[in-house]
Amino acid sequence: MKHREGSTPGVQWGLFGSFAIFTAVILALLWIFQVVLLDAFYKAIKVNEIKTSAHTICNSINSSTLQEDLQRIALNNQICCIVCDAQGNRLYSESAVPNCVIHRLNNWDLAMVYTLTARNGGSYFERFPQEIRQSITFLGENTAVLRSQEAPEVMIFAQLVTRSDGKQLMVLLNSVISPVGATVETLRYQLLTVSLIMVLLGLLLAYLLSRKIGRPIESLNSAAKTLAKGDYEVHFEGGGYREVCELSDTLNYAAQELSKTERLQRDLVANISHDLRTPLTLITGYAEVMRDLPGENTPENVQIIIDEATRLTTLVNDVLDLSKLQAGVVPMEREVFNLTESVRSILTRYTKLTDYHIVFYAAQDVFVDADELKISQVVYNLANNALTYTGADKSVTLRQSVLDGKVRIAVSDTGEGIPQEKLDDIWERYYKVDKAHKRAQVGTGLGLAIVKMILDMHGGEYGVQSQEGVGSTFWFELDAVQPPDGRELALNSGA
Ligand code: ADP
Repeated sequence: MKHREGSTPGVQWGLFGSFAIFTAVILALLWIFQVVLLDAFYKAIKVNEIKTSAHTICNSINSSTLQEDLQRIALNNQICCIVCDAQGNRLYSESAVPNCVIHRLNNWDLAMVYTLTARNGGSYFERFPQEIRQSITFLGENTAVLRSQEAPEVMIFAQLVTRSDGKQLMVLLNSVISPVGATVETLRYQLLTVSLIMVLLGLLLAYLLSRKIGRPIESLNSAAKTLAKGDYEVHFEGGGYREVCELSDTLNYAAQELSKTERLQRDLVANISHDLRTPLTLITGYAEVMRDLPGENTPENVQIIIDEATRLTTLVNDVLDLSKLQAGVVPMEREVFNLTESVRSILTRYTKLTDYHIVFYAAQDVFVDADELKISQVVYNLANNALTYTGADKSVTLRQSVLDGKVRIAVSDTGEGIPQEKLDDIWERYYKVDKAHKRAQVGTGLGLAIVKMILDMHGGEYGVQSQEGVGSTFWFELDAVQPPDGRELALNSGA
C-alpha cells in the first residue's frame, strides 16, 4: 500500500494553513479599506455630498419651502449655504460651520464668484486648506502652495440656476473636510489589536477544529490500517461531526461484513471439503465392494454411485454458477418466453423421477421477458429446496398468480419451516439454517444465493414466508409481458 505521508499535509496543518490564509486576507482587506483608502473614500463622499446638496437646492429653487429645505440640508450635512443673485445680494443664507468661508464674503466677492461660475459653464468647484481662508481669491493658484495633508480642507461649490421668474441665481455651498490622520492612527492601533486577537483566535479555532475533525479521522485511519492487515475485529471510533460518525459506522459495518465473508469462506472450505469427501468416499467404497464381491453388483448399489456422483456434480455446478454470476461473466440473454410452460416442464421432470406429490396451479400461460435458462434455474432451486425440506406428506405446491402486470410464482412446502430470525440469512452464500440436520447435508448452501443473484440481475422481487412446523413459501415476481404471437392476455387481474 502506498503512503502519502510526505506529499500531502495532514488535516491539522491543512486547517491551520486555511485559517492563517483566511485571517491574512481579512486583515489585508481591513488595512486597505480602513487605512489606505479611508482618506480617498471620505473625500469622495464629501465631494459627492456637496454636489448632491447643490442639485437638491437647485431643484427646489421655486419651492415655497426653500428656506426649510436649506435649513435641513445645512444641518444634516454640516454645509453652509448662500443663495444670491448676480450682484451678490443674498436671498437666502444658512450657516452650519463656524467661521465659514462663504459667509465672510461681501456682495462684491459673491458677484466675483458668480462671474467665475458663469465663466466656468454654470458650476464651480474648489478645494483648499482652511488656513488660507482669509486671503481666498477663488483663483486656485495661490492656494495650492499651502495645501498639506493634515490641514482641514474647505470645499466650495457654486451652481447657477434660473428661477421660474427668469432671474438667474447662484447656489453657493461650503463644507469642511476634517483631516483623517488621527482617525487612521486610531484605526491602525485598533487593527493591530484586532490582528493579534484574530491570530490567537485562529490558532485556537484551528486547534479545536483539528481536535474535533483531525483526531477522529486519524483514529479511523489507524483502525483502517489494522483492518487492511486482516484484523476484522477492529472497532472504528468516530466522533465530532456527523459525516465522520457516519463514516465510522460505515466502516464498522464494512468490517463486520468482511469478517462475515471471511467466516463464511472458512466455513466453505470446511463444508466443501466435507461435501466433496462424503460422496467420493461412498462412490469409491461402493465401487470397491462391487469389484471385490460379485454378488454386490446390484442395481441399488449402482444407483447409490449415480446419486453420489450427481451430488458432486450439483455441488461443483453450484460453486461454478455462483462464481460466474458474481464475476459477471455470464451475459443476460433476455427473450420473451412462456414462464408457465417452463415451470411445467421442470416439474414434469421431477414427477417422473420422484414419488413426491407436486401440484402446479396456473390459470393461464404467462410470458416474461427474461433469460429463460437463468429463470429456470431459480424455479429449479426453489422446487429442489421445497422437495428437500418438505414434510412427511411429500407434497409441494406451486402457485402462479398475476397482479398489476406482474407474475408471481410461489413454491410452498409442508416442512419444518425456518425460524423468523434466520429468514434474512438464508439468502447468503453457504448459509445453512441447521447444519446438523440430515437433510441440510444434501445442499450446498448456495442455491438461494444463486436465486437472489439471478433475480437481482432481472430486477425481480422475491421473498419468503415461513412458519415453524407448518412450512415455507418462497416466491418471486417478474414483469409479465404480452405473448409474442399477438394474443392479448389479462395481466392486471388476480388470475
Ligand atoms: P441448500 O443447497 O443448502 O438448500 P440454499 O441456499 O438453497 O442451500 O438454502 C439455504 C438454507 O435455507 C438451507 O440450508 C436451509 O436451511 C434453508 N432452506 C431453504 N429452503 C428451505 C425450505 N423450503 N424449507 C426450510 N428451509 C429451507
